[in-house]
Amino acid sequence: MKVFYSPTHLQHNPPFEIFDGGEKVPNFEVPERALRILAALRQTTWAEILAPQDFGLKPLLSVHAADYLDFLRTAYDEWLLSDLDADYEKTALLPATFPPAGWRRKPKSLLGRAGYYMTDLSAPIVAGTYPAALASANCALTGAASLLPEPASTLPVSSFALCRPPGHHAGRANCAGYCYINNAAVAANWLAERGRTVLLDIDFHAGNGTQDIFYRRADVLTISIHGDPDGQYPYYSGYADETGAGPGLGFHRNFPLPDGTVDALYLATLDKALELIESFSARYLVISAGMDLFGGDPLGKFKLTRAGIRAIGQKIAALNLRALIVMEGGYNNAALGENMLTFLECFK
Ligand SMILES: [Zn+2]
Repeated sequence: MKVFYSPTHLQHNPPFEIFDGGEKVPNFEVPERALRILAALRQTTWAEILAPQDFGLKPLLSVHAADYLDFLRTAYDEWLLSDLDADYEKTALLPATFPPAGWRRKPKSLLGRAGYYMTDLSAPIVAGTYPAALASANCALTGAASLLPEPASTLPVSSFALCRPPGHHAGRANCAGYCYINNAAVAANWLAERGRTVLLDIDFHAGNGTQDIFYRRADVLTISIHGDPDGQYPYYSGYADETGAGPGLGFHRNFPLPDGTVDALYLATLDKALELIESFSARYLVISAGMDLFGGDPLGKFKLTRAGIRAIGQKIAALNLRALIVMEGGYNNAALGENMLTFLECFK
């Protein structure tokens, strides 16, 4: 299996985030996550680890607003050069003010724009965030391109984009939840120009950024199985009655599940999602693969076992679609490499 990985992610290493209750904690989304998965892959005989190609900005601009990408590119340097509040250490840019729902004026000031584009306190921007986010998106795009041109064989082809930072909470014009550029959405949009595409999100957290991007589109079926947002991050979308809008009505589905969900309930829910995918007659499948569905993840509330992860992988692989697996969350670092291998082995 081709694996796309760039060490540029090492430049993105925010020293902290602000957690629930206002607690300043070390950032959960650390370089060690990708390094653990990389080390596990290097132990195998089947993983072919390759550098991504540079696809430029065009495929990103098909998914994200140009002014938002400009903000990501320039915000940190602008902050460094500003004399605002120069008495504190400028390591990680975070806003302290956010617009209430419906207030969408975009101020000129950097901190005003930060609150406009950043919707929570877990996606700080540091010096290396933008290059790392670009490299991560290029891993997903190169992975998508590796599914083409179609070989004469009818056997399914799969590849893995070892993306970091992750992407599925990044909406059309906002970063959030460790995510800046929505790698899976960028890849799915690119593939959708070449054939019907499904994006299935199995990260513990609702893929709210992906939902935002594709909500009014019928050409990409998006499905997310996740912890019930009534009690879990990202709280404000991911509900079962959100099924798309306008021409996209019926082409988005959420499957919220309760805290403590075990293998059997998850797999029964996955079966419903897979039925939807089969009836969509897709050519390509993009999987937002977050391993925080594993029991014992510090940011997840499911109780899935490693055998459950294998069963999930086997069921999805049995669709026999050309599949791009995109790394999302997963914060039990000691288990992350083995969990991801367990999932990937179903597709090799
Ligand atoms: Zn997650």
